[in-house]
Amino acid sequence: MTDVIVIGGGVIGLSIARELSKSGMETIVLEKNERAGDVTSSRNSGVIHAGIYYPKNFLKTKLCVEGNKLIYEYAKEKKINHKKYGKFIIATNKSELSHLDKILTQGLENNVEINRADNEEVLENNPGLKFHEALYSPNSGVIDVPEYVTALEGDIQHFGGLISLRTSFLRAKKKEKKFTVSCSTEGEFLIESEFLINCSGLSNEKTLKNIENFPKNKIYRNYFAKGHYFKYSGKSPFSNLIYPVSGQHSLGIHIGFDLAGGMRFGPDVEFVDKIDYGFNENLKDKFISSISNYWPDIDPDKLHPDYAGIRPKITKPSESMRDFSIQSRDDHGIENFINLQGIESPGLTSSLAIGKLVKNLL
Ligand SMILES: Cc1cc2nc3c(=O)[nH]c(=O)nc-3n(C[C@H](O)[C@H](O)[C@H](O)COP(=O)(O)OP(=O)(O)OC[C@H]3O[C@@H](n4cnc5c(N)ncnc54)[C@H](O)[C@@H]3O)c2cc1C
Repeated sequence: MTDVIVIGGGVIGLSIARELSKSGMETIVLEKNERAGDVTSSRNSGVIHAGIYYPKNFLKTKLCVEGNKLIYEYAKEKKINHKKYGKFIIATNKSELSHLDKILTQGLENNVEINRADNEEVLENNPGLKFHEALYSPNSGVIDVPEYVTALEGDIQHFGGLISLRTSFLRAKKKEKKFTVSCSTEGEFLIESEFLINCSGLSNEKTLKNIENFPKNKIYRNYFAKGHYFKYSGKSPFSNLIYPVSGQHSLGIHIGFDLAGGMRFGPDVEFVDKIDYGFNENLKDKFISSISNYWPDIDPDKLHPDYAGIRPKITKPSESMRDFSIQSRDDHGIENFINLQGIESPGLTSSLAIGKLVKNLL
């Protein structure tokens, strides 16, 4: 018997569990893998976004803007490796200028710090970059995600919560105000809980089908949008994150860094049917052609396949971007159940703010 069960130990489940255990609720996180944060949470760009791109009324905007401040504060407090690199969004040719203007307008509308960049300044810090005009976002940066996950786990345990690894959620039903949750490690067992939170990422659709009486018409279908990264073995001439203008389903193949200064490119977007992190090395040509648009001096021999991640989308390839879906009783009719779906980018940045939102909803 516990107060709350959180399904999924990615950055979203952990941030929620941290917030709830901090507020005195007895909290158990169920994570099917051997380690927390091992799925989408560690297969991303690690970028702390500023909240520029999304419509003002989206949760994505509100939670990203708030999450940006919270995650920098948290990283400082917990001594998590992070760096505010700052980011340039570039138009590589004249036809992209109107898109750049739209991004600037949206960023300003969202009250995000963003301005037109001085081209000489861009080149001073990023020699060899080919572009027409650029925007500058000073509050974009990078965080060491494994260190972030460890800090969240430490907090949960400090506040008396439990992270149960190698423990799969099987199904849940509600009886007399309590959820009975079936889980399995080596055998199956039951936990009773007053509150239940679903943040099982790419498995969300399957999880929901195993929650008794969850209305079928409130389940978003999951679409898997794979993104690949290539690392660059040479020294980086760039000092800032560099993003081309955004596409429909991603922010484009950008220049990012790990915190040791290593440079990488990605992610692209490829809708796939199943979760498979295999790497098609033939993608290299596509990457070289895209990167050459803004960095003609790239040496193809230094570009090597790195890793892939899969975005848990709730939009079809043909649809435009949807907001995060965070449903509570008013949406699905089940009291004390919170359901999170479509927590794609900027989910990492928004995670601490999502924790606070879910606590308030409960
Ligand atoms: C390519 C790519 C790039 C991205 N770049 C950025 C970025 O730069 N900045 C940013 O802010 N965001 C970025 N994101 C988004 C960010 O990574 C996600 O929003 C975030 O990691 C989602 O976390 P999560 O906890 O919801 O999911 P996950 O990390 O997938 O966690 C879900 C957990 O649930 C567990 N689980 C599933 N089913 C069960 C079950 N039945 N029982 C028990 N456990 C279960 C899984 O094992 C998993 O650990 C990116 C995403 C991708 C794919």
